[in-house]
Amino acid sequence: MSESIAKLADQAARMRQELNKYAYEYYVKDNPTVEDYVYDKLYHDLVAIEEKYPELITSDSPTQRVGGQVLQGFEKVVHDVPLYSLNDVFTKEEIVAFINRVKKELGENVTFVCELKIDGLSITLRYEDGLFVRGATRGDGTVGENITENLKTVRSIPLRLQEPLTIEVRGECFMPKKSFVTLNEKRDEAGQAIFANPRNAAAGSLRQLDPKVTATRNLDTFLYTVVDFGPLHVANQFTALNQLENVGFHVNHERRLCKNVEEIWEYIEEFQERRTTLPYEIDGVVIKVNDFHQQEELGFTVKAPRWAAAYKFPPEEAQTKLLKIEWTIGRTGVVTPTAVMTPVRVAGTTVSRASLHNVDFIKQKDLHNDDMVTIYKAGDIIPEVAQVVLSSRKKDSLPVFIPTNCPVCGSELVHLDDEVALRCINPKCPALIKEGLRHFVTRDAMNIDGLGPKVLAQMYDNNLLTDVAGLYSLTKEQLLTLPKIKEKSANNILKAIAASKDNSVERLLFGLGIRHVGAKAARILAENFGDLESIAKADKVKIVALDTLGETIADSVVTYFENEEVQELLQELKTAGVNFTFKGRIVKQLEIDSPFNGKTIVLTGKLTHYNRNDAKEKIENLGGKVTGSVSKKTDIVVAGEDAGSKLIKAKELGITVWDEQQMVAALDGSSVNED
Ligand code: AMP
Ligand code: ZN
Repeated sequence: MSESIAKLADQAARMRQELNKYAYEYYVKDNPTVEDYVYDKLYHDLVAIEEKYPELITSDSPTQRVGGQVLQGFEKVVHDVPLYSLNDVFTKEEIVAFINRVKKELGENVTFVCELKIDGLSITLRYEDGLFVRGATRGDGTVGENITENLKTVRSIPLRLQEPLTIEVRGECFMPKKSFVTLNEKRDEAGQAIFANPRNAAAGSLRQLDPKVTATRNLDTFLYTVVDFGPLHVANQFTALNQLENVGFHVNHERRLCKNVEEIWEYIEEFQERRTTLPYEIDGVVIKVNDFHQQEELGFTVKAPRWAAAYKFPPEEAQTKLLKIEWTIGRTGVVTPTAVMTPVRVAGTTVSRASLHNVDFIKQKDLHNDDMVTIYKAGDIIPEVAQVVLSSRKKDSLPVFIPTNCPVCGSELVHLDDEVALRCINPKCPALIKEGLRHFVTRDAMNIDGLGPKVLAQMYDNNLLTDVAGLYSLTKEQLLTLPKIKEKSANNILKAIAASKDNSVERLLFGLGIRHVGAKAARILAENFGDLESIAKADKVKIVALDTLGETIADSVVTYFENEEVQELLQELKTAGVNFTFKGRIVKQLEIDSPFNGKTIVLTGKLTHYNRNDAKEKIENLGGKVTGSVSKKTDIVVAGEDAGSKLIKAKELGITVWDEQQMVAALDGSSVNED
């Protein structure tokens, strides 16, 4: 390793340490000490180094959390020490019995630790000399699956410990309630099956063969035990938890030492109460004998420790009657069934409606008219139908009606691809058009203020318009015919509509509501194709070539623009004067006057005038491409102070070498004419 590379390696190591420290404060201590952008900036700088010198990447680098290659399957992992299960208790009496059993063996002098029973999946993590080397599921307790790559994407799992310990720690991996709710919303919208609860969602996320998917799922962990406590130098569970936190693990804060059944019961009641307000799901409380020597004395049964018991909360469920099913239709045409039920209290609130998600869900539950159903709150938040109470079903009851036609326009409903969702695909469906209008005016789309869903629906119902293009020919007189719209708001609406004509085209593109095309994809398309006509003409190959957009999006875009009605709509929008071009920053090659334009440049050594990222940005804005390694394709190597191997290679290959001064002069002398 040359001297300058060694220096860089040092620098990268320091950056990683710093980043890992911030992450520890954020994810483990729940106490961030720096603003997000400080972290982001440092992270980007590290990425820049690692991109240029891939040989410097280490396995504990936070950059390795994004998820690597797709796996073929999961390897089996044999647990040297099995992951045990816990003996359940359901009542205060059973807890008393547990404590008496313990005291009979150990005498009166026993202390217990109460912990929350996290409703996730057991995981076991192995560290060698402080480095995370393997993570596995519990499986049947003896044989689990190797899910190291997926676990690496979980931010609260340290990739390197604060001390070079060789240990195996165990705990729970779970999905926070918030992430669960967002994930299910997204899945519902996309016509995918939803997860019944955070636990299933966590399981599904950990068993992904593509770690990049796991990385998007915002999983979290709480660790609570170590296979061999030796290296931690602790004598009881309570100190062990503190010590686990000290070396870098996320440990649940609600742990408590309890001396007797009263204190234990108090803890249980407190958390039964607070359960719905916690940001993660729990299904009970685990009571453990604190002292390790005492634990050892008690030992294990075949499947569970004698020194612990799991108190299970009674499930928060309620029974109620199914009154009817409402079928509503969303922007993308997905028809969603909602159960309307006799109001009932469950987990702290009154519930009278629950989404039934899709036809498969209804069929799975086998819902009949007038059924009694049990309901619960998924993630303690979202009302869900758990199951039918079959014992109360009337003999001659019929399965609930499942529509074959759109409840609004009457056209036949279809399943697209392998979706579970039923969709209305009639572009003239009033429900679709209303939802489309609502979407068109939203903030990230055309951003037209003053047009709520009600007003838009009225406009449509009163024949003031038939599609989004119709917005642009609305007159004040027309607006004034609507209830509640007065002179002033009519003026404001017209102003907002007129202003939206000047939007950069990605807003229009997103506003059109093309399936799979979100705000980000719209921006990428707009940026790369420049205007709507080019996007409409683009074929699949061209779109996929953008790299960042996949085949699903490409197919969807192509299909959309092939539609004749869409072509007509575009024509109407164009005639109305709606802007079709991208107004963000584009650097047009022809208008650049710079020696960097079209050239491949390598920066090496220490730059003093600009830092490397700034120099890179400037060069790229002048049409140059900055790469990390010197090859025959390199046009110019800019060598700063202490330039090392790259400078040598450049000389070998006979590539033009500039010093920093020459680069600065060339940057200063360049110009871009942006129109
Ligand atoms: P069960 O699956 O009902 O036998 O309960 C045992 C499981 O509870 C263990 O495998 C752990 O995954 C889980 N668990 C959750 N929180 C804790 C905790 N604080 N201590 C021990 N086990 C826990
Ligand atoms: Zn319809």
